[in-house]
Amino acid sequence: MLCLQQKKLAYANSWRGTRMKIRTKRILILLCFIVTLGACTAEENKTQNDNENGTIYSADIFAMDTYMTLSAYGEKAETAVSAAVEEVNRLDTLLSVSSEKGDIYYINQNGGGQVSEETAELIIKAKKAFTETDGAFDCTIAPVMEAWGFRSGNFCIPEAEELSELLQKVDSSKILIEGTEVLLPDGVSIDLGGIAKGYTSHQIMEIYRENGITSGIVSLGGNVETLGTKPDGSLWRIALQDPENTEEYFAVLEVADRAIITSGGYQRNFIQDGEVYHHIIDPVTGFPAQNGLISVTIVSKDGTLADVLSTSLFVMGTEKAVNFWRQHKDEFDAVMMTEDRRVLVTEGIMGVFTPLTNDSVEVLS
Ligand code: ADP
Ligand code: MG
Repeated sequence: MLCLQQKKLAYANSWRGTRMKIRTKRILILLCFIVTLGACTAEENKTQNDNENGTIYSADIFAMDTYMTLSAYGEKAETAVSAAVEEVNRLDTLLSVSSEKGDIYYINQNGGGQVSEETAELIIKAKKAFTETDGAFDCTIAPVMEAWGFRSGNFCIPEAEELSELLQKVDSSKILIEGTEVLLPDGVSIDLGGIAKGYTSHQIMEIYRENGITSGIVSLGGNVETLGTKPDGSLWRIALQDPENTEEYFAVLEVADRAIITSGGYQRNFIQDGEVYHHIIDPVTGFPAQNGLISVTIVSKDGTLADVLSTSLFVMGTEKAVNFWRQHKDEFDAVMMTEDRRVLVTEGIMGVFTPLTNDSVEVLS
């Protein structure tokens, strides 16, 4: 096994960028803490601004290993955003592989056990996704994620032998679940990283609605979900990051009431000997998926589904992903970029898609 010391590691641009942002953000949060003592905490930065659309209330937080911005317009925006922040922190604990107080940590440690109804429902959804995507989405990928060091940050290229042994434990059909009782036989363990943020943004939209919000938007590390339109009735404009130049954007989508969730190998990775190793694993090989797609954005009313499918289609690769969309046309739309920079856009969103580059655009029908 080839493990890298973290300090010697050559980070990919996006990852290094994230770390620099973390440092800058920490300084900002610290300043905020000193200047307005009590008005913000070390983990949360809240702002209220008036613009042409009225008053927008926002919170910037770090949770689920990523930066998040939660925003809402309207009278009860502050209450709604504060409740949403609490919800993010609750779900982070409940669903994370490393949070000792959470369900997933508990069942992974004990080969199963009793979980909350909510966790049980998510595991059932993940199992269903495993079947429907023909194994591309596999939440039992946990031991392989760990072997690559994506949990600890101590990145490794595992030996082929180690990988093939670990892959024996990767099979969502082995998860047994009855009611809220989960059984994980044969050393199987669960990682809900491919579904948790989509579920979380869906929950935030529920909280916004309960608080009477009709206009809101969240970005959970680039996973976006929108409620209604902007207060002036215009559509939200969501820019899609260029997977090969993360400072730039390759397209804009205009939407209302939609989740727009992207998976890309640029989002979390490490470089060794000039090779990029990213965090979306092909369950067949145990290696980072390299099946022709470098970015997959899913547009759907259902945030949880959009998150599952962004990971799944990325793993499937171009041909299978296109076929999968053709069989599920009425459930979602997609924008995919291939490694030779062809941009594939499904027909349902062509009218709200604006390219920002000269890359060739193909409409899928
Ligand atoms: P992000 O978490 O950056 O938004 P994704 O939604 O694509 O990106 O999810 C990637 C995460 O999903 C990984 O960090 C890991 O926790 C988990 N994962 C990786 N490969 C798979 C897979 N084949 N099926 C299900 N989950 C996966
Ligand atoms: Mg996902």
